[in-house]
Amino acid sequence: MYKTFAEVKSALASGTSVLELVEAYLQQIKQHEHLNAFLEVFEESAKTQALLVQEKMNTGQAGRLAGMVIGLKDNICYKGHKVSASSKILQGFESLYSATVVERLLQEDAIIIGRLNCDEFAMGSSNENSAFGPVKNNLNDQYVPGGSSGGSAVAVSAGMCTASLGSDTGGSIRQPASFTGTFGLKPTYGRISRYGLIAYASSFDQIGPFTNSLEDAALLLEVMAGNDAYDSTVSSKPVDVYHAFQSPEKLRVAVIKETLTHEGVDKEIKQRMLDIIESVKMDGHEVEEVSFPFLEYMVPTYYVLTTAEASSNLSRFDGVHFGYRSKEAIGVEDTYKRSRSEGFGDEVQRRIMAGTFVLSNEYYDAYYTKGQKVRRVLKDRTEEILANFDVLLMPTTPSTAFELNAVKDPIQMYLQDIFTVHANLTGNPAISLPLGVHSNGLPFGIQLMGKNFGEKQLFDISSYLIKRLGA
Ligand code: GLN
Repeated sequence: MYKTFAEVKSALASGTSVLELVEAYLQQIKQHEHLNAFLEVFEESAKTQALLVQEKMNTGQAGRLAGMVIGLKDNICYKGHKVSASSKILQGFESLYSATVVERLLQEDAIIIGRLNCDEFAMGSSNENSAFGPVKNNLNDQYVPGGSSGGSAVAVSAGMCTASLGSDTGGSIRQPASFTGTFGLKPTYGRISRYGLIAYASSFDQIGPFTNSLEDAALLLEVMAGNDAYDSTVSSKPVDVYHAFQSPEKLRVAVIKETLTHEGVDKEIKQRMLDIIESVKMDGHEVEEVSFPFLEYMVPTYYVLTTAEASSNLSRFDGVHFGYRSKEAIGVEDTYKRSRSEGFGDEVQRRIMAGTFVLSNEYYDAYYTKGQKVRRVLKDRTEEILANFDVLLMPTTPSTAFELNAVKDPIQMYLQDIFTVHANLTGNPAISLPLGVHSNGLPFGIQLMGKNFGEKQLFDISSYLIKRLGA
């Protein structure tokens, strides 16, 4: 089993061929089929790519990711391959082009191994909303892996690929990373092109990596980030060298008081936070509690704004342009209605309805406009804090993974996102580091949120924390 790119590279250096490597991963995938992480394995194209990469390696022309085997969340397009957002409504749909991130990975000679199960249209926190069945946590298969990028998290945690891509609109990379003991990064909004990502909420969505090492996450960001003519929201700011970590000098760390006092946070997670704060202080860094009395507004604001964007984004799935069309339908309106009612799952329909409501003529100002105003307040206050501090430290999740079918109330499920939606509302980069193990045997993540486009510093600080506290 090859968990990190360093392990892959050392195997290649000692004579393993790229094809053998891919075969070893295919074997791992087969052995873990019961976890339901992969919706499809791209065996043929992966093997073809392996041979191509081998040839390049033999002639010394291989790119920076030669031999890295990567899985894609099933909402990222790869030309000539199926993509479904884990929804019935995209049944049979095949991508006509590759996402910019996929192009960039391939240019550096990565190998795409398959598409990974997720919550339908990336809506969920447990991966139980997939039209193709839930993903099970590889650390205990009675438990959820988190969501929505559950398949991406499990595939990396169980060594079915070296790294994977997920998308994070409100925590869908960081929360499953926390539940599976992996690294999960949500870059700054606009750091990575969203071209070829099936949109959920366009002003929140970002693509990011899951990995078993911090170095791999940094390298992947370096390859994927940067300007792209196909996405007007992507930044043209130069991309730093992220993977050469430098020890930070004197750090100023902010901790949001309310994240430590919130009653919903598991005791051991709180204790781990306090221990980390002590260790960091002992190294001579400053850690200060700051007040951010908006915690209870985060999740509601997130759901008002993201459902609004989703209701608009998902209107393109009409039974005419893509995928599923109801066989019973007669006429245009009936086609829309039936195809959408039959094609979308319950959670997606719930959100489309909520989003349509908050955008409706009578309620627009009361909900959508208000939500935007709250978002502005959250942004301003976060910026104010990060003008005085290098980083914000908080738990990634209030608890460790929960049992399958345990959380039935959607509102309870939404509260899972209490610490992760912050970074999407404000746009800041945030990373979940596997720095906690609970007495119940399950891992949990510690989250760092950085300054906008401050990924370099975020990685440097992460690297220090991992060395200090052991990952
Ligand atoms: N769990 C959140 C939701 O259900 C986040 C999803 C995501 O980041 N894609 O919306």
